[in-house]
Amino acid sequence: MAKFPTRPKGVHINGARSRGWGSGWPNCQRSRMTTIKLKSGLRLEVRREIGELVRLLLDECERRGYRLKHKSSGSFNCRPIVDSDPPRPSNHSWGLAVDLNWHDNPMQDRLKTNIPPWMVQLMWAYGFFWGGWYNGTKDPMHFEFVRTPAQAAALTTSLKRAIGAQFGKPATARIIPFGDDMFNPYFVRTAGDPRVFIVTSGGVFHVKNPTHMKYLIDGGVQKDVKEISRGDLRDLLEVE
Ligand SMILES: [Zn+2]
Repeated sequence: MAKFPTRPKGVHINGARSRGWGSGWPNCQRSRMTTIKLKSGLRLEVRREIGELVRLLLDECERRGYRLKHKSSGSFNCRPIVDSDPPRPSNHSWGLAVDLNWHDNPMQDRLKTNIPPWMVQLMWAYGFFWGGWYNGTKDPMHFEFVRTPAQAAALTTSLKRAIGAQFGKPATARIIPFGDDMFNPYFVRTAGDPRVFIVTSGGVFHVKNPTHMKYLIDGGVQKDVKEISRGDLRDLLEVE
């Protein structure tokens, strides 16, 4: 099986209410949902504040080759978490979660999925935690937004900028801004290749100048430079 990014640490996955999203099941806020439509025609009902973000992200996933099946994908659903006892509200009840291709990505103990690693990385860069990372029963069809409403707005702006700058193409010697909209920068390099790339919510950048690198590491959030294979880097950067 393809190698997925490791589960990020310190994420509180059932904290929608504490992050300012109000109530979920059983008091779902239906009036705060919006229906988005992807280029492929798929319609999903999600919380209004993340509508644009979900639309742009899933359009990007389809553009990169991951097709969404319209009859096995869904989003807002006013219900508790499956098998929770006592019942706890699902993130679907806030309109903050999407389920993608559930026949290909079933909820079960052993991870079975056709979600590509780059997609997990992309979704996470914009605040969506992957159900394939769950301890215990895996839910790879599922991505849930684990940021605040203000962060949703910042991430949407950031994603639009990344798409405007041709998403995924490494930009050399670009100054990388650090701000509230840049989550979990992820440094990568391949064995035998001195180049270092940084993957952030703003896109994928080539870190050309080691001084920048030092600045990023000293001033940044994450200290590790992760070694990955050439093939993984190719997946990440989408180069030939
Ligand atoms: Zn789900």
